[in-house]
Amino acid sequence: MERPPRYVRSALHAWIDALHAEDRSRAALKPALLLVVLDLLDEGALDPSRVVPDDRIVHDFDKLLKAAKITANPGAAWQPFFHLGTRSRNGAPFWTLHDAKGAALTVTAADVPRSWKALRAQVAYASFPPELAAMLHAPEDREAVRGLVYEWLEERPTDAESVRLLEAHDRDWLLVKRTMSQVRERSEGPFVSQVERPVVAVSDRILRVRDRGFRLLVVPAYEHRCAVCTLRLRWGSKVEAEAAHIIPVDENGPDDVRNALSLCRTHHWAFDAHLWTVDAQRRIVVAPVSDGPEVDLVALRTFHGNELIAPAPRTYAPDPVALAHHRARFEARFRAA
Ligand SMILES: [Zn+2]
Repeated sequence: MERPPRYVRSALHAWIDALHAEDRSRAALKPALLLVVLDLLDEGALDPSRVVPDDRIVHDFDKLLKAAKITANPGAAWQPFFHLGTRSRNGAPFWTLHDAKGAALTVTAADVPRSWKALRAQVAYASFPPELAAMLHAPEDREAVRGLVYEWLEERPTDAESVRLLEAHDRDWLLVKRTMSQVRERSEGPFVSQVERPVVAVSDRILRVRDRGFRLLVVPAYEHRCAVCTLRLRWGSKVEAEAAHIIPVDENGPDDVRNALSLCRTHHWAFDAHLWTVDAQRRIVVAPVSDGPEVDLVALRTFHGNELIAPAPRTYAPDPVALAHHRARFEARFRAA
């Protein structure tokens, strides 16, 4: 999944809090409505600064719930439409409800109207917080917001309705699941350090799917930590750690959990740059260079000699062949230097 740019993330914090404050045992009606609204924004059928509760929303919402086999009364979109305007347990409302004069309505969950018609009599439109509304004009920002909703649904993998909602809406989800089962299958056989990869241009979408499936297997095995510095930074379902290939993809390294480490972005970057590697005892080895005006590895050197943290299950541990490949590149580089 493409990560939202930093400014989107900061503006979305309150909003993500609200998603996470949702009672996870409840039906996923609010995320479903958000997905419908994002789709209608894509079609240019809605204005993000003025989301009018019209029949298209009802129609698309019912259609999505039906596809996801989520039981709700037809036309039930009024409930999440209203509840998105109320404060959840400790989160801010997702949007503000306005009356026909444009005045903001202060409502609580107890005020929920009894029908779509009753809602329309009370609510003329909903508005996103201004900063978010401004972003929602841009397709790539909408995609990022949609990604947040998907990630939130992914976080409820035991919740059958959330999974079905993902399957019904996220056109990548089935591919992600397929990637995950392919990686699992590959990771159970003998370790193959070089795989044939077709020499065709792969779309960004496929790259994104592969990354997402790979990350969903690798990073949780390390408890969402960096294997070097043990940093764990989570913001709800957003996780800082990434799945780093040990033998890089462009050297035909396999999508195998034994060819991966969960690393924070800093240590991923430094690993790809061969500024550190791992010895046969799984200990961190930092580049043997002297610091000077243009070289400063002091922050990295504090980890020199430490053992990488181990994944659970142990069978996900990096394969010695993969680590030796990385070490050979590292040694070649510093022998030449
Ligand atoms: Zn790290």
